[in-house]
Amino acid sequence: MTDDRMFEGLAMAVRCAKHLKEKFPMEIMAIKDNTIIEFSKRNSRLIHGDKKNMSGCQAFYRTDKPHRVVILQKLLIERVGWLGTNYYSLEPTLDETGKRLRFPCDIEEHYQHGVSLYGEPAIIEMICHELAHHRTSGHAKGFKAKYQKFWKYMLDEMLNGNYAISSYDFKKLGDQLTSQDNYVSIGKSVCKDPPKPDYKWNATINGIPVEEYRRLKSEGVKN
Ligand SMILES: [Zn+2]
Repeated sequence: MTDDRMFEGLAMAVRCAKHLKEKFPMEIMAIKDNTIIEFSKRNSRLIHGDKKNMSGCQAFYRTDKPHRVVILQKLLIERVGWLGTNYYSLEPTLDETGKRLRFPCDIEEHYQHGVSLYGEPAIIEMICHELAHHRTSGHAKGFKAKYQKFWKYMLDEMLNGNYAISSYDFKKLGDQLTSQDNYVSIGKSVCKDPPKPDYKWNATINGIPVEEYRRLKSEGVKN
């Protein structure tokens, strides 16, 4: 069942990559069968020569040819990310200390550099990020411009209905964008201690709340 969910997440990632490739054919590598893959034993031959572990990141872009995007299974299954539009902006909103603005995180008890994203938009944002690494350097200017362009396009496509996502994901995305806009517009006055959201996101995986699901997983319970 978890495998089904993982492959469903992977299909979302491939779908997004192909959609971006169609719009920006010269700026993205060819999207073939093994271009977008999950980090797993079955793919160890394809990942060979790259990272042996994911060292804390959700996904990475393979610079060597053939280029690949390797994604942590947890991200494909849980589909929780954060929006990088302020953090990776050429002119980010800063807090009072001059650091890039932090945003409350719904699930973990800490802050992150953008509001949380859930469901398919979390996968889409990650693909925009990883594909923006193609022919750019690190997270420098070129990357930032490309990432913003890709995300803006995908966001427009989702909002105008050309790129269909579930109505739950669509509603959640709208809420999160509004929340990010609010934090950015309040800007410097709140950044020292951004308010915690007054709700808990009640996402479920296979009908089990995310935190419960993680606890069961860590105890080795199969679902
Ligand atoms: Zn990156």
